[in-house]
Amino acid sequence: MEEIKKQLTDALTGAEKVLIGIGGEWKLREDGRDIRERSLGDSAQAGLKEAYDSLYALVKDKDYHVVTTLTDGAIYETDFNPGRVVAPCGNIHWRQCSNACTKDIWEEGEIPDDVCPHCGAPLTGNTLDSGNYIEEGYLPRWEAYKKWQTGTLNRALVILELGEGFGTPTVMRWPFEKIAFFNQKSLFFRIHESFYQIPREAQERAYGIHCNSVDFIRDLAGI
Ligand SMILES: [Zn+2]
Repeated sequence: MEEIKKQLTDALTGAEKVLIGIGGEWKLREDGRDIRERSLGDSAQAGLKEAYDSLYALVKDKDYHVVTTLTDGAIYETDFNPGRVVAPCGNIHWRQCSNACTKDIWEEGEIPDDVCPHCGAPLTGNTLDSGNYIEEGYLPRWEAYKKWQTGTLNRALVILELGEGFGTPTVMRWPFEKIAFFNQKSLFFRIHESFYQIPREAQERAYGIHCNSVDFIRDLAGI
């Protein structure tokens, strides 16, 4: 494990671009809307905050981009530049009409009583779980992300896929495999407690690391 940690940090040192995927292992355990009242630091997952900090320290001077399948918004409570983050599954802290009668999206607390001003339906989190997910919330960020991605072609790219399972594989897991396959200068690190396997066609420049990705990244802080 020490050897792969060194490989990863060496790879980051030489990277021109860093693509980071954050998945389910990084999910805040507190449910739903109470998340915003809790800072990461005082939760039972203090280790999670440390892991985000460690990750940020590793990439802060790089041309990085983050894609997360989480909807807890926790990454926005860290030092990561929100302009370099996309959350295509939504953000629980953004509110939308539960009937999706309008494409308007509001900040938490912006609308009195959390009721849709157009139709009177309750507001709900602007996430994939809402049932009527309004995708306009993330699409501009997604376009920016795709544009950034085209700039990684033929550049020394490190891909860190952290704790992503198979919930929404089209967002991160499968596209990352493809990027790793086509970019000859890429190195792909997939870290997960269970789903660390690398498909054969991507194996040449890829490492599947059998470890909880939060623990792995947090422990890199001291290296
Ligand atoms: Zn409405």
